[in-house]
Amino acid sequence: MTSRPLKILFLAAEVVPFAKTGGLADVAGSLPKALQALGQDIRISLPRYGRIDREKFGLRKVLDPFPVPLDNSQQPAEIWETSLEGLVPVYMVENQNLFDREGIYMYPDDAERFIFWSRASLEMLPRLNWIPDIIHTNDWHTALIPNWLKTVYRQSLPRTATLYTIHNLAYQGIFGHRVLEIAGVAEYGFEYQPQMADLNRVVNFMGRGIQFADAVSTVSETYAREILTPEFGEGMDPLLRERKDRVFGILNGIDSQVLDPASDPHIAVHFDGQNLEPRVENKLALQKEAGLETSAQIPLVGMISRLTDQKGFDLLIQILEPLLNNHSLQFVLLGTGEERYHQAFQNLARRFAGRVAVFLTFNTPLAQRIYAGSDIFLMPSRFEPCGLGQMIAMRYGSVPVVRRTGGLADTVQDFDPQHQEGTGFVFTAYEPMALYGALVRALETYKHRDIWRSIMLRGMSQDFSWQASAQRYLDLYHRALAMANENEEVETAIG
Ligand code: ADP
Repeated sequence: MTSRPLKILFLAAEVVPFAKTGGLADVAGSLPKALQALGQDIRISLPRYGRIDREKFGLRKVLDPFPVPLDNSQQPAEIWETSLEGLVPVYMVENQNLFDREGIYMYPDDAERFIFWSRASLEMLPRLNWIPDIIHTNDWHTALIPNWLKTVYRQSLPRTATLYTIHNLAYQGIFGHRVLEIAGVAEYGFEYQPQMADLNRVVNFMGRGIQFADAVSTVSETYAREILTPEFGEGMDPLLRERKDRVFGILNGIDSQVLDPASDPHIAVHFDGQNLEPRVENKLALQKEAGLETSAQIPLVGMISRLTDQKGFDLLIQILEPLLNNHSLQFVLLGTGEERYHQAFQNLARRFAGRVAVFLTFNTPLAQRIYAGSDIFLMPSRFEPCGLGQMIAMRYGSVPVVRRTGGLADTVQDFDPQHQEGTGFVFTAYEPMALYGALVRALETYKHRDIWRSIMLRGMSQDFSWQASAQRYLDLYHRALAMANENEEVETAIG
């Protein structure tokens, strides 16, 4: 069945190539292109942060300042427009007071900043003469939109449905009651269900997204199941269980055009599955760049990650030194995050000079060189909603060692020597020795060059493009619209 194209407004607080701190930006910079390729009228909104250069990105003003309600008053928003690769329209909401700053997050007025951007994104719609069928909201920054559509904008946007996507349940946007006034929803009141008593003392943006969106999704099927349990639910599981008929899992894709070892401008030598021999040049170049001993033989383990407990660093820090003492390997890390990990890895790099290198920075071109030059890619996450690193690594021929959780479980198949199947090395228990064992298995297998090569090739031939998942999002948009209409009918009948 082919339906009419949908109008979709996609909101994300970070979008590649304009602003990025993590995977959300990659998704926001690639999923909309795939939906447009399916014939949909999709447009993006994000704040115009100070670091987004108007000239570099060819921004042009499309709406003069207009007033946006904020905390019993109004603040002006200006709308600038550019596009993703000349294809998908991107609106940037400008308010210098709130967004003309060095960083993206972590300001004391973050609640106000993201309320303003979300609300301005709704207020701009009639002014652009473009009313979406679907508003696709992502993470806590945009989670009040479903709440508004059922309250403040019920009359003015009656036919627009919402999808709320959870990219990481650990970041919920928790603030005091005051934000309800800033957002203009205080008068509607709101009590969380009794089991969620804690939430009645705070305002939890994500909780509101889950409560009010017509459909809720997260970024892998396994994580969609996991978050219904207390272990992974981050306190939100009672609410998620109550709404579980509306909770769906759709695996993220990666931008397979941008992330292509056959054409990546940031790597030393191009290669692909048919032409794998040149790949080793990337390893040698990376070893040079990182100050490691240059050797094609020594297995090089790479890691690119935010340095937080979520990513398994508490395990890694316990086993890296014994591993280095007992096995031949090199380790290169790119990441920023918690100070204690910065120090721990700097210490290791000093003590294992020539074998351990750390780059405590955010650097996309260097990330590509690590994907292209490492032999093994490490992601021992405690939880992982989807994870992009392991997919990019496989595309670039670096064999992942991962924990069986969330999207890692859905994308990496454990190597089975008996049947010569699998794309990586998977461990289950969140224990240092389980990680150690998986790494030793990988290092031992690496010595068998033909077997290793076949694991690399299986990983490289996986299809992690957005095509299949974009179609699933489109189906979910239609479902959200149908569910919104059902609700409307029920509420009309009751009311
Ligand atoms: P998360 O969104 O939880 O941080 P993902 O694996 O979903 O984790 O996405 C992380 C993305 O950010 C990947 O594209 C990864 O390559 C990139 N990335 C993470 N840290 C860095 C860094 N220090 N420099 C460059 N890219 C990074």
